[in-house]
Amino acid sequence: MHYYSLNNTSSPVSFREAAIQGQASDGGLYFPAQIPAVNADLIAHPNQYEDWEIAFHVLQPFIGRDMPETVLFQLLQETFCFPIPLVQVNTRIAALELFHGPTLAFKDVGARFMSRCLGYFSQGTNRQTTVLVATSGDTGSAVAHGFYEVDGVQVVILYPSGKVSRVQEQQLTTLGKNIKTLEVSGAFDDCQQLVKQAFSDRELNQKLSLTSANSINVARWLPQQCYYFFAWKQWRNQQNPPVVSVPSGNFGNICAGLLACAGGLPLRRLIAACNANDVVPTFLSTQTYQPKAAVQTISNAMDVGNPSNFVRILELFQLNKRLKNIFSAVSISDETTKNTMRRVFDQYGYTLDPHGAVGFSALEKHLENHPDELGMFLETAHPVKFYDVVEPVLQQRLELPPSVQSIMNLEKKATRIPAQYDALRAFLEQNG
Ligand SMILES: *Cc1c(COP(=O)(O)O)cnc(C)c1O
Repeated sequence: MHYYSLNNTSSPVSFREAAIQGQASDGGLYFPAQIPAVNADLIAHPNQYEDWEIAFHVLQPFIGRDMPETVLFQLLQETFCFPIPLVQVNTRIAALELFHGPTLAFKDVGARFMSRCLGYFSQGTNRQTTVLVATSGDTGSAVAHGFYEVDGVQVVILYPSGKVSRVQEQQLTTLGKNIKTLEVSGAFDDCQQLVKQAFSDRELNQKLSLTSANSINVARWLPQQCYYFFAWKQWRNQQNPPVVSVPSGNFGNICAGLLACAGGLPLRRLIAACNANDVVPTFLSTQTYQPKAAVQTISNAMDVGNPSNFVRILELFQLNKRLKNIFSAVSISDETTKNTMRRVFDQYGYTLDPHGAVGFSALEKHLENHPDELGMFLETAHPVKFYDVVEPVLQQRLELPPSVQSIMNLEKKATRIPAQYDALRAFLEQNG
């Protein structure tokens, strides 16, 4: 399989090259040259397949000859080493719980797959790779844990100071070893901007082998398709396919869902559930795409004003007109998010995290107007990751899982930098 740059000026590369480079040298995002159709039997009889077999069938065509099948099998078994259950919340809404991995958020899937791909591709080379990543919270921790102690890989994480939760900050800053963390005085968009600048800095890239671990990397983006198929396997009513609501920030997760649909997964609808950062909902209603500075909300992993995967969504719409008709987007306020968390806890005994609550609320609104439809939302993080938001809203104490308890008192190791490219460059020259 080849991947082309959405800026269309770089030459196409293999999966291996796309995963190593992260972003094309013309600054574009990589996109697969074909969208393979998934095996019809897998759609008709998903129960006859193990999850990692499903993952293999979905992903193998995207990787092609760049990885022997036995290696890919192994890698997928390591990636999907935790359950992804579909849990019924009320009669019409189920939660696809993506938070049972090591850092309690769905980003564990992409980060685990990507780190193992880069580990495999770096075998037999002696060049050190530096993974550079901007995070609004969850990416960084998933990437840090995915790459921790992986030989030949150095990880540099940028996060916005004061804008991540305490659990996230501890997960980001306490590992040490090959994981270096930069606390940036600015917003997530500043961090993302700095990272983009580093990738387009030719001189720096001659010295260091830089790669991205944001959802723009195909090795993070593509495996996220798999759990839409796992959800389909657990869906009881194949005659009435689900509406799937996806809490969205950089739009990597929902873009993977669209790709799964392009490959043949029969979802009824995909809803991008956004917080107050509403550039995509506004685009759908006005046809004008107007990036904005991010505003801070209680679902901070979605505080993105210029979602990087938006260009992939446009490309998918070009290639497959049906996708445009099954895609919608809504913006949910913090007030509604909090009310939803309270109501769902009181009525159904289910604890939502703020991101999942945005997804739930968007889905509920849609289903109110479509009485024959049923749906699921992606519960993208464990509520405990955002306990500083969830506890006061629910007036309940959440129990910390052992994996979180053990890191809460570890020493934070982070270097503070201003949101200026010179500062990042100097750090990379010393530490990359
Ligand atoms: C990253 C994240 C999102 C947003 O996912 P995108 O792929 O960037 O749209 C939603 N919820 C949580 C908990 C996240 O960590």
